[in-house]
Parts: sequence; structure tokens; C-alpha cells
Amino acid sequence: MAPPVFILLGPPGAGKGTQARLLEQDFGLVQLSTGDLLRAAVAQGTEAGRKARAVMEAGALVSDDIVLAILADRLADPDLDRGIILDGFPRTTPQAEALDALLAQRGQRVTAAISLEVDDAAMIERISGRYTCAACGEGYHDTHKRPAKAGICDHCGGTEFRRRADDKAETVRDRLTAYHAQTAPLIAHYDGRGILERVDAMASITQIRSTLAEKVAGVSA
Ligand code: AMP
Repeated sequence: MAPPVFILLGPPGAGKGTQARLLEQDFGLVQLSTGDLLRAAVAQGTEAGRKARAVMEAGALVSDDIVLAILADRLADPDLDRGIILDGFPRTTPQAEALDALLAQRGQRVTAAISLEVDDAAMIERISGRYTCAACGEGYHDTHKRPAKAGICDHCGGTEFRRRADDKAETVRDRLTAYHAQTAPLIAHYDGRGILERVDAMASITQIRSTLAEKVAGVSA
């Protein structure tokens, strides 16, 4: 059987990155985050990164051609044979169509699209308090998930933490607007294909983890 491909859909702050990392641990799937790939391209100063930087800082969507090129490169890596979990991709209908074509070349198709359902108001609070360990990327939050020992990452012992440049409240509003205009229609797109799973993402991280685990195990069986 071809390795499974899961899509995590949901607005910024819904917990896609956190849950994708947990699915990596629970199922050996590999998280592919176009946001992470783009931030790496910006940090390396590649041509794609130079073009993407200002767009990302404004909270808008990077052009489909840049995102697709970055994703196609990553899909060529040899570590994806247990399956993938796409986090933050696709974000537009043309990206969803291009994804089907890229997967078809590999003999794969989308197994399920999982929509993390939340309210917008809560998202602004969630996003503006979040930060990650600079060494291992583990996610934390000022109110909801602090390290057990202040200033020390629970996962790797790192002591440096980062906040994303686009997590400021005004940029978050623009990111939510982009989500509703361009990405939310994908929920109906995957529902129409009969492969949509909806998850209440206002629940706790642990509850969402176990709901997702049941869904992933259910559709992979
Ligand atoms: P994320 O880490 O998924 O929240 O993405 C951060 C930013 O990267 C977004 O606000 C967009 O500017 C850009 N980005 C990430 N993934 C995509 C995508 N699939 N299409 C267009 N822009 C993207």
C-alpha cells in the first residue's frame, strides 16, 4: 500500500504544528510544513526566501509557484516512506490541485484532510502567546503550555526560545483573513471528495492528540 498522506487544515493558531509533531511521534509520519520550509529559505537567503520574506511579514500568502517548488524539492527527499502529514499546505485550490498531481507521480493520493475547528477570537490569544525552543522546535505558550522548569526546554534542555516575526496581533488578523478567503474553501473541497475529518480543536492538546490518533489509525487501517 502507498504511504498515507494526511493534510491538517485550520487557521493559524489551530495547533497544526503541535499536532503534526505529535503525529510524527505516534505514527512515524513526517511533518511537512511549508511555513517551516519558507522560514528556512528566508533564513538561508535563497532566491525563493528573498521573494517570500515581505509577503510572510505582511501575513499574506506566498505565491503558489514558490510554495510548490519548495514542496516538490522536499518531496524528493528519501525519508518519507512511512507517510506524511502536511501542515499549512495546501492553502489555495490551485495548490490542492497541484498536490494531487505531485502525489499521482509518486503513486499516492490524499488519505484524509483533517480540519482543526476553532474560533477566531481564541486564535489571536493563542498565537500571540506562543514561542518555540530555538534548538529543537518544541512549542510552548505563555499561558497554556509553559516548560516544567522556567527557561529550560522540556524536550531537549535548550535555553533559547524564539517568537515568530508574524505572530504580532495585527499580522495575525491579516493571516486569519487570508485563511478565510483562500484556505477555508478547501474544507468543502475535501468534504466533497468524502475524505474530510472534522476535529474540535478548542479541546486540550492531549484530547486533540487522542482524537487525531483515532482518526489516523481508523483511516490507515
Ligand atoms: P505557517 O507557518 O503555516 O503559519 O505559515 C507562515 C507563513 O508562510 C504564512 O502566513 C504564509 O505567508 C506563508 N505560507 C506557508 N505555507 C504557505 C502556503 N501553502 N501557501 C502560501 N503561503 C504559505
